Amino acid sequence: MVYKSTRDSGVAVSAAQAISQGISKDGGLFVPAEFPSITSDDLQLLAGCGYVERASFVLSRFLTDFSAEEIDACTKAAYTADKFGSADTAPLHALGNDVHVLELWHGPTCAFKDMALQILPHLMRVSAEKKAGGKKIVILVATSGDTGKAALEGFKDADNTEILVFYPEDGVSRMQKLQMTTQEGKNVAVCAIRGNFDDAQTGVKTIFGDKAMAQKLEDSHMMFSSANSINWGRLVPQIVYYISAYCDLLKTGGVKMGEAVNVVVPTGNFGNILAAYYARKMGLPIAKLVCASNTNRVLTDFIRTGVYDRNREFHTTTSPSMDILISSNLERLLYDLSGCDDGEIRRLMKELAETGRYEVSPAMKAKIQELFAAAWCDDIKTGETIAETYNASGYLLDPHTAVGMYALNAYRQTTGDKTPVVLASTANPYKFCSSVLAALGENIGDADEFAQVRQLHVKTGCPVPAPINDLQGKQPRFTQVCDREDMQQVIMNMLHLT
Ligand SMILES: *Cc1c(COP(=O)(O)O)cnc(C)c1O
Repeated sequence: MVYKSTRDSGVAVSAAQAISQGISKDGGLFVPAEFPSITSDDLQLLAGCGYVERASFVLSRFLTDFSAEEIDACTKAAYTADKFGSADTAPLHALGNDVHVLELWHGPTCAFKDMALQILPHLMRVSAEKKAGGKKIVILVATSGDTGKAALEGFKDADNTEILVFYPEDGVSRMQKLQMTTQEGKNVAVCAIRGNFDDAQTGVKTIFGDKAMAQKLEDSHMMFSSANSINWGRLVPQIVYYISAYCDLLKTGGVKMGEAVNVVVPTGNFGNILAAYYARKMGLPIAKLVCASNTNRVLTDFIRTGVYDRNREFHTTTSPSMDILISSNLERLLYDLSGCDDGEIRRLMKELAETGRYEVSPAMKAKIQELFAAAWCDDIKTGETIAETYNASGYLLDPHTAVGMYALNAYRQTTGDKTPVVLASTANPYKFCSSVLAALGENIGDADEFAQVRQLHVKTGCPVPAPINDLQGKQPRFTQVCDREDMQQVIMNMLHLT
């Protein structure tokens, strides 16, 4: 199978090339030229398998230049009970009313990013062996909080790899910051930037496109790659858990074979929900995709109006991993829905870069609305949803998942659609203690992170994840803060280049 660029359909690279390179030279994102299908026989078979086998099945359909042995080695190394707490890598929790919460946060950093970032380093190593000629891979990450830690944890001490993470100084939770600044490993570095996530992401994208920088790395036998969800190696493992969830529903009788589910996803960069769209495209019985946003509701507005407009105030919210105004992966959806019209995508992305805004054609808008619904809520509604859900069922949502729950309720209320739902739960609530405690009406005063962890535990009895407990007492290693203009220099220093 070949991969094309969303900005140049003439590009044709292998999966290994797409993964090791991260982003196409024209600035476009790699997408498969065609999509494999998944049949009801496949689903029946996979229902009897564990997560590792399900992952191998799906990955082998997309990474056709990887051998079966290579794929099995990657999935087995990534999805261990040791890293995910049990063999149930992505379990479903039934909340009643046909709502099934897909818990994607059992990995080492307690956010759904682990689902992809535990396997990406393995996919990257195999890809680099095939395509990068032994060059050292330099992973650059811009993070709104969770990607950074998950990427650091995935790539720490990986052979022939360096990883450098940039996060917005004031844009992440205290626990997220502590997770990153205390990161261990010989090949890692972390730097705060003065700005928001979009500044960090734009800075990283600019560096990827900088020819002089690329040449300097080349001269030292290195190359950049990306662990952000612009990398195909991030997206393909995310398709797996939607298929896995459906298989689990088949097993428990939550759905009958072929019966449709709706999928609700708290969304930021549009990676997670795009993976659900791709699962649907493969033939997984998904009816509606519900895109949930916080106050940075650029996607809700887009889905409702067909106008994407990032010219608006940026809000820092209690769901920081969704504080994004430029959702990179939307480009992949638009490419697909336009019938792979690379010229159209170039035009839209140029408009976005120059004016911060674009409008899709009426035909495209109609297609989007047929597939997607959207809703958003502010921090107050997010908190209320955490409290309501907890009081009704004893189940504790993190603020991101609560935004998803709010959107689900809003969607069901306006449409009356009673289709069973898979709600993607993207983080463990202990990563966002202060917001969750406040939502439950607890007084947090000036308690530190770990006092808050204990307070939430006393209040709810929910188990504290081991990786959160283990952070206690760790000293920060990385305290550097830089301006966006200095990102290049920080990278050069880390790599000992001039
Ligand atoms: C990254 C993240 C999101 C947003 O996911 P996208 O793939 O960027 O849309 C939502 N919730 C949490 C907790 C996250 O870490």
